Amino acid sequence: MFKKLLIANRGTIAIRIIRACRELGIKTIAVYSTADRDALHVQMADEAVCIGPAAAEDSYLSIPAIMSAVLTYGADAVHPGYGFLSENGDFAEACRRSNVNFVGPRARHIRLMGDKPRARRIMKRAGVPILPGSEGTGVTELRDALNDGARLGYPVLIKAAAGGGGKGMRIATSEADLRKLFPLAQAESMAAFGSRTMYLEKYLQEARHVEFQIVADNNRKALHLGERDCSLQRRHQKVLEEAPCPVMTPRLRARMGKAAVRAAEVVGYANVGTVEFLLAPDGEFYFIEMNTRIQVEHGVTEMVTGTDLVRESILIAAGAPLSLRQREVEFDGAAIEFRVYAEDPETGLPSPGIVANHHAPGGLGVRVETALYDGYRVPVHYDPLIAKLIVHASDRRAAINRAKAALHEYVIQGIKTNIPLHLRILEDEDFVQGRFSTNFLKRFERRPEPAPEARLAKAS
Ligand code: ADP
Repeated sequence: MFKKLLIANRGTIAIRIIRACRELGIKTIAVYSTADRDALHVQMADEAVCIGPAAAEDSYLSIPAIMSAVLTYGADAVHPGYGFLSENGDFAEACRRSNVNFVGPRARHIRLMGDKPRARRIMKRAGVPILPGSEGTGVTELRDALNDGARLGYPVLIKAAAGGGGKGMRIATSEADLRKLFPLAQAESMAAFGSRTMYLEKYLQEARHVEFQIVADNNRKALHLGERDCSLQRRHQKVLEEAPCPVMTPRLRARMGKAAVRAAEVVGYANVGTVEFLLAPDGEFYFIEMNTRIQVEHGVTEMVTGTDLVRESILIAAGAPLSLRQREVEFDGAAIEFRVYAEDPETGLPSPGIVANHHAPGGLGVRVETALYDGYRVPVHYDPLIAKLIVHASDRRAAINRAKAALHEYVIQGIKTNIPLHLRILEDEDFVQGRFSTNFLKRFERRPEPAPEARLAKAS
């Protein structure tokens, strides 16, 4: 087993990894930027090293800065967490070249899945269903995009070949729209990923985002731990996730799970990963991408399967075979995760500042992953995700009730959070009935504010 693991990340996931390492008897090294001097992950790790200034490009995204910390502090493994360098093939390769274990898949699998048109081609060949879209390596010229648009029929979704985080994505409902939006999406992709390569995909209306958790070892053995429904999104970014998907059936799970496992096995993938699908109202499903890392929402799968995914990722990286078989995977109850963002619930704009009073909810089936503490200053430089509340109960109804109680109990003062938005979602009849698609939050946000008496207790 590893002796010393460096966490190339910050915030909630850094703390999550420290906890898993403690249980495994592995020492941890935290890295931090000057803006994170007082961060909780720095205090919790066995050792901590400053890797640069606040700007992520010069610290959490700097491969030389992180590799010099790895070598100076003698780490024998690196966990990238999610975001930052977690899906950067060069980083995984830099670790390998320095004889340091990268807790994640091989560099070539990260690169393969990071090139979305290529991933689509491989999935198609493997018999995993994909949506009609651009063929080959993608499109860089407007005239090729217009040809694809005419062939596919509108609406189409313009996507960045190197995409992530919903960046470079635009829905085009007509040829005129495509002419206007293609250059905009391309410019956004250039700014975010340094790539002009785009692809078009048929836009699926009223679909659900249903993703499968994959665990695969180095002996080409893969299994899935069921699905998560992540349809509740804002600007193509997830806000609330749950397991199981409310409309899942054992038959559909078996079919989708088989496709997800095939997606991993066909390339010889190892470690944890997520195969994302869109599930259409007619029950058909289509591969959209594979994320080659632990996801923000991994906790809901952990709650319903009783599997520690961070521990699994570390054990697999250390060469261990899978600790369970597909038929041993059982699902217990329902779990929902609420992403708590430091943001103004009305405008959705970030709300950094000093946390004046922090009380996290607790009790049976209530799990909070956070890096907050009283007096902590939420920095402006990074993703505004400050906590994840995960509830688990015997069924979805009970989980919703548990979530309401926990969100009411949650106190975070000094900054604004989206907790009021979560409470409004939980009051929504369509949500309660499990009737929603990826458009749900768009519609929801246009609804009028609830009457004052219906407004729930102040949570922030
Ligand atoms: P990213 O990597 O930027 O997150 P994804 O391909 O994972 O991009 O898509 C993000 C979200 O965008 C999906 O969860 C879904 O809500 C929406 N989406 C993606 N592709 C389609 C599509 N073809 N039709 C409808 N919605 C889509």
